[in-house]
Parts: sequence; C-alpha cells; structure tokens
Amino acid sequence: MAQLQKAWVYKEYGNFQEVLKLEEIPVPDITPDEVLIKVHAAALNPADWKRGLAYFKDLDSPLPHVPGFDLAGVVVKVGSQVHKFKEGDEVYGDINSSIPEGIKQWGTLAQYTAVEEKVLALKPKNLTYEEAASIPLAALTAQEGLERADLKKGQTLLVTGGAGGVGSFVIQLAKEIFGASLVSTTASTKKLDIVKSIGADVAIDYTKENYEERPEKYDVVYDAIGDYPKCVKAVKDGGKVVVISVFEVDPPAFAFLLTSKGESLEKLTPYFESGKVKPILDPSGPYKFSDVLQAFAHLETGRAIGKIVISPI
Ligand code: NDP
Repeated sequence: MAQLQKAWVYKEYGNFQEVLKLEEIPVPDITPDEVLIKVHAAALNPADWKRGLAYFKDLDSPLPHVPGFDLAGVVVKVGSQVHKFKEGDEVYGDINSSIPEGIKQWGTLAQYTAVEEKVLALKPKNLTYEEAASIPLAALTAQEGLERADLKKGQTLLVTGGAGGVGSFVIQLAKEIFGASLVSTTASTKKLDIVKSIGADVAIDYTKENYEERPEKYDVVYDAIGDYPKCVKAVKDGGKVVVISVFEVDPPAFAFLLTSKGESLEKLTPYFESGKVKPILDPSGPYKFSDVLQAFAHLETGRAIGKIVISPI
C-alpha cells in the first residue's frame, strides 16, 4: 500500500474556509517524466481559491484536489525519463505548465507531490525554501507579460498593484532585467515605501489620485489588479497594455495565462542569486502548514504584500 502523507484536500468546489481540510492521503505515484518532491515550502496564489470556486472547472482534473501551484523542496524519487534532476536536488517551480493544459489533481499543499521535470529549476543557492517557493508563478507571470509586451531598454512602464505578488516582480524585472528607464506603480498609502524600496521610481497613492488622469503616458502598462480599461488611458499611442485578470480585451490591450517552464525560471535564477531581484514575503507569514486556512483568508482580502508562504511542510 502507498505511503500516507498529510495534505490539504477539497472534495467539492466551494469557499476554502468550508471545503478545504487537512487529511491523510496516499503519496502520489510518478510517471516516467516526473520527479517526486518532498515539499518544504509552498506559496499561495489567487488562482488557488479561484480554482476552488470552480472558475476553471472545464479545464480542471477530477475532484478531490490538493491546491497549490508553487513549491520549493527536494527531489526524493526520479522517473525513468528524467534527465535534468537527481535525488537530493533542491528545486523550485510552478507545477502546472499552463491552466489550459489542465491543472494537476495533487498540488503543492502536501508533504509530497509529483512534478514534471520540465516545470522545475534548481533552487537559487542563496535563497531559503520559503523565499524560493514565493517566486515561480508570480515571477513567471511578470516575465512573460513583459516579454509579450516587448518592453525595451529605456522604455517607461506603469504597473498597477505594485505591492502584490505579480506587481512586486513586474517592478523589479522591468528595472533589473528589461532595463526600463522609469517604473511607476500604484499602491495604497501604507505601501508606498515598500514599492519604492523594490525599485519603483514613482509611487502613486490610488486612494488619493486616479493614475489614468495624470498627464504622463507609458510605453507599457501592466495591469496586475484587474483595472482594464482604465489602464488603456495611461498608455502612449503605439504602446501595449498587459492584462492578466480578465480575458476579453481589445488592442492595445492583450491578455494571457502564464506558461510555467523550468527554462524560464533558470533565466531568472541568476538575478536572485546576485540579489538584483528579491523575493518579497508577506510579513504576516510564513504560515505553519496547519494554518493554511488563515493564510488563504489573508490572501482573499486582496491586501497581501508580495507572496504568502506556507512553511515548514
Ligand atoms: P495579490 O493578492 O498578491 O495582490 C494583492 C495586492 O494588490 C495588494 O498588495 C494590494 O495592495 C494590491 N491592490 C489591490 N487593489 C488595488 C488597487 N485598486 N490599486 C493598486 N493596488 C491594489 O495578487 P497577485 O499579484 O498574485 O495576482 C493579481 C491578479 O492577477 C489576480 O487576479 C490573479 O488571479 C491574476 N493572475 C493572473 C495570471 C495569469 O496568468 N493571467 C497569473 C497570476 C495572477 P493595497 O493593499 O495597497 O491595495
């Protein structure tokens, strides 16, 4: 009989506070292209609770589900077709290569999970498991959006929601990797210092001012909160608006769902190892594995700073 492990499980769609329970379930088997990971830390994303509320029902695996996209942990078993990793490797990744391709039944809020090697990368050496787990989904979304918008060195960018999981990486990647000459962002009053500390040149207090009414316009506007079509008013003629929270948009806006790839994470790893880009962890965490419901309650307020992490698992 398969070894048992602790995992957060829901057997029906609904609000996590009602349907998500800590249970004992079998450790999953691996396919030839997968590794089994002992999860040390996981991070939460809005996609978890949205999935729980059946937003992605048509694309989802059958119930029950273990939620969780992001992890950092150690490889404890290797499938016969796996070439990149060996037992004992410390890795990180977003385990779902893309939502349209389907979402894994057994996610990262478990002691062990089976993961395809193509979505994993070796953990940045200088980071803790908590820090590494906070990176994949949000940073890959920031990276892919900026690549798709073709943000070029010397261009200007506005990102809404600079204190959030995706927004905090958009600020840092735009400055440190894409070479933006100016990054503006929106945040509430208490978070203005935080967004400046991670590289925003201009921090606009959205509780006092409407950014779209300011005279300055940007080459790229990245909407990390769901503020389309206001964002369209802030873009220059010929510029692009990146949208990640709604999908029916018209040019100059475009929307996308991220693709998780180990090779994309590998491009980011050196920036974390040099300290040029930093993981931002919500100060209320890391949350203990037994406190996942409190962690989701905080995420669902929409007020998190950076990423909410669960550790140790
Ligand atoms: P978070 O929960 O991390 O965002 C929370 C942050 O949003 C808080 O810091 C909050 O700051 C800020 N915020 C909320 N309202 C506003 C506002 N009106 N103006 C400025 N800031 C605001 O979310 P994520 O960053 O993880 O995700 C953002 C959205 O993107 C979600 O809808 C998510 O589902 C989606 N997403 C889509 C992806 C895709 O592939 N298409 C991938 C990843 C995420 P404050 O307290 O100051 O308001």
